[in-house]
Amino acid sequence: MKYRAIKGVQDILPPDVYLWQEVESTARQVFAPFGYREIRTPVMEFTEVFTRGIGETTDIVEKEMYTFNDRAGRSMTLRPEGTAPVVRAYVENHLYSLPSPQKYYYIGPMFRYERPQKGRFRQFHQIGVETFGEEDPRMDAEVLDMLRCFFERVGVDNLRFEVNSIGCDECRPIYRRALIDFLTGQIDSLCSDCKRRYEVNPLRVLDCKVKGCGEIKKKAPGITDYLCSGCREHFDALRGYLELLKIPFRVNPEMVRGLDYYTRTTFEVTSEFLGARSAVAAGGRYDKLIEEFGGPAVPGIGFAIGVERLAALIKDRHGIREPVPTVYFAAIGDEAEKAAYKLASEMRTKGIRVELDYSGASLKSRFRKADRLKATYVFIFGEDELSRGTVRYKRLSDGEQGEINKDDVMQFFG
Ligand SMILES: [Zn+2]
Ligand SMILES: [Zn+2]
Repeated sequence: MKYRAIKGVQDILPPDVYLWQEVESTARQVFAPFGYREIRTPVMEFTEVFTRGIGETTDIVEKEMYTFNDRAGRSMTLRPEGTAPVVRAYVENHLYSLPSPQKYYYIGPMFRYERPQKGRFRQFHQIGVETFGEEDPRMDAEVLDMLRCFFERVGVDNLRFEVNSIGCDECRPIYRRALIDFLTGQIDSLCSDCKRRYEVNPLRVLDCKVKGCGEIKKKAPGITDYLCSGCREHFDALRGYLELLKIPFRVNPEMVRGLDYYTRTTFEVTSEFLGARSAVAAGGRYDKLIEEFGGPAVPGIGFAIGVERLAALIKDRHGIREPVPTVYFAAIGDEAEKAAYKLASEMRTKGIRVELDYSGASLKSRFRKADRLKATYVFIFGEDELSRGTVRYKRLSDGEQGEINKDDVMQFFG
């Protein structure tokens, strides 16, 4: 019996895993100076957290959630995204009573039942942030600035920052009306999904990736022409601050994002290397969501970065820097092997990466192995060295050789 991983999920193996670690630690380093602290929520929640939070008529809730009944018959869902759980935790733990704004980040797996294809997985990973309690557009620009900083630090450039405003409760219904009027004349040309979206959630038509619908949406009225004065001012100010921070961006009036909870600012970061419409990060403002969860009227804004896509981008451009052994031990003879075994333990305790070899193979084949492992040094340890209380070393990069006192090994590595 041979077992296989479930379709659409994958193992993250070395050396790729080093890339993931680097991405994660860079996120922690970049977010900290902006005042973000980590939050860890469970990977599963009661299903209502998502149906309520994300919206009943979104693609995620309609067809992509891993939902099941537990043994007590309660409906559970593996989290398809990170915002709803963090908002649930924020409200449940009264985090709104702490000084505003409260800033959190999370790192972890998400689950969506999507058609597996290149670059899309059913268990995928996100690094996300959520900021609660600040409605000023400077916070929107700050969040985008943090994203810019993050991508700079992981070494990915040529990114496009696209921003939009999708308005508020006051102005969006007016836009919705105008969009419905427009779509009514085009209804026969819409794809079958969009015919249904037209009924239940017409803004979602703007998210459609079907080609024919793309042609129609080019002619559709743009939401930015329908913003109320409050949303207009917020959006104008955001663009001003993005210019001040020299973040290159473009306004994309078609971008509504696939979730219902957004208000005002939405944004995406895309790369030409990922192909059309594939964001490496995306987010937006959600000023009504906390109330929706039974909390106070607190505004919020956040984003999520797709780790799989980002890792692929970095691997493409820079490859992977995998840590290598500092020392490969080649000890010959029982006594020498014993002494090497003990010395290796001392070195590892001090944090030096040492590879031991229990094969008893020839010196030549050990050197070959040290080469394959890309070790920095080979330590040669035979009867002669043992009797002199020394160890011979060879640096593989340039062949430099020498002999050091066994007691000076730690100093040798400074
Ligand atoms: Zn508005
Ligand atoms: Zn469509």
